[in-house]
Amino acid sequence: MSKSYQPSASHFVNGQYREDESGKAIPVIYPATGSEIACVYGATDAILEEAISSANRAQKQWAAMTGTERGRILTRAAHIMRARNRELSELESHDTGKPLSETLIADAASGADALEYFGGLAGTLTGEYIPVAAGDFVYTRREPLGICLGLGAWNYPIQIASWKAAPALACGNAMIFKPSEETPLSALKLAEILIEAGAPAGLFNVVQGYGDVGAALVADPRIAKISLTGSVPTGQKVYASAAAGLKHATLELGGKSPIIIFEDADLENAVSAAINGNFYSTGQICSNGTRVFVQENIKDAFLARLTERMKNARIGDPMDEATTIGPMISQKQRAIVMDYIAKGIAEGARLVAGGHEIAGDGYFMELTVFADVTDDMTIAREEIFGPVMSVLSFKNEEEAVARANDTTFGLAAGVFTSDLTRAHRVAAGFQAGTCYINSYNLTPVEAPFGGMKMSGVGRENSRAAIDHYSQLKSVYVCLGDTEAPF
Ligand code: NDP
Repeated sequence: MSKSYQPSASHFVNGQYREDESGKAIPVIYPATGSEIACVYGATDAILEEAISSANRAQKQWAAMTGTERGRILTRAAHIMRARNRELSELESHDTGKPLSETLIADAASGADALEYFGGLAGTLTGEYIPVAAGDFVYTRREPLGICLGLGAWNYPIQIASWKAAPALACGNAMIFKPSEETPLSALKLAEILIEAGAPAGLFNVVQGYGDVGAALVADPRIAKISLTGSVPTGQKVYASAAAGLKHATLELGGKSPIIIFEDADLENAVSAAINGNFYSTGQICSNGTRVFVQENIKDAFLARLTERMKNARIGDPMDEATTIGPMISQKQRAIVMDYIAKGIAEGARLVAGGHEIAGDGYFMELTVFADVTDDMTIAREEIFGPVMSVLSFKNEEEAVARANDTTFGLAAGVFTSDLTRAHRVAAGFQAGTCYINSYNLTPVEAPFGGMKMSGVGRENSRAAIDHYSQLKSVYVCLGDTEAPF
């Protein structure tokens, strides 16, 4: 019997927990056991109205504060989040099924980094002085957008909430965040922490719901900006709805990213990257390098070392800190992944590891590797979002880069080689927003993160995020007379 993680109420609005049981029930399932650990309710119109009106009030109060004051509160929130890391990690592990060995280092910790980084930037957000003709000048003011909406996926719930809230709040906006209905719990904790750190009530509201709640908020004229982390089909719907209101949008969507491993690469490092880039979070990571291109003459050595090291994976109880692989988020997602595995086999890929569900109440499955994958196979073209690696072989650099780019996605890409010149040449040739040389899937807050092509619009993290959460106003200052033709 799993412990209950029932929150005090479903939503966090205007500085406090709020309940309205007339919304659609959302059971929260612990993926490791299949048991219900909480139940929340989708937001009703009354809850959404309260969220929007309180965010509107709070945003004006917040924007009137100096950047340094706002930054101090965000930095305090980062400290509180770090102090509560274990409690938050245990919650996140129950909500997502990800093992504690991951959540202790990658979830709230990364959220705290974002709060600290953007807290530090908040006091530095200035405009520009632009001299123009006749001694006149223009200055720019960097102004907030208003109320931003965050829509989260289920793989990194508190990280996604923090990556969106931190730059939004640093710029003087308010935020309404709707977590994925699969993982509604940890964003509520971020809301609690921001209040404890001194943020005004209503500045960061969390409302629960299925896609319909997200869609209603996207369409509301009082929402100025949308930041979505989710799938490409949802991104297209959200972008179309945002376009109707000419709203700003940041879209962090899916991928089918390549890792190219040349014969001169450090094999051990390349295997490590392929493992991290396919199996971390049980493969449920948007930027995963799921197409592993290995130069022909080292393919067998690569597969041998990979499958040997995979025997050390510890699949099981997420709360045991020795566990390295947890279950899939849901039975539904596991079924989707199993379907892709069946397609891989049917289309002629060679299964070299895994391929099966693991019996029991939880949604566990084996780590899976296909070799002899070709570019046209479904498993090489579509995002699987599970622990399934496709290994493809190549002869030369030009071919590898062309095939790596032959996808509608463009989220991430990696190259492993000891040839410095080639490494930079290949990185320059990748059509992807986030590239790696001799490494994979690290996402420090200091660096921009986001996709090209169908993988998204805009960038999260780094100074680049500031441009996506603020707008510039130009003020022309005339020092002389104003001339007119008559
Ligand atoms: P979804 O696209 O299904 O959902 C994302 C969010 O949007 C959820 O909160 C969802 O609510 C909401 N939503 C769904 N339909 C609408 C709509 N019409 N209008 C407004 N909001 C809506 O993604 P998943 O949660 O399944 O996450 C997996 C996907 O996310 C993968 O494709 C993955 O690659 C991508 N992802 C991208 C990342 C990146 O940074 N690029 C990082 C992590 C994941 P509900 O869940 O209630 O339907």
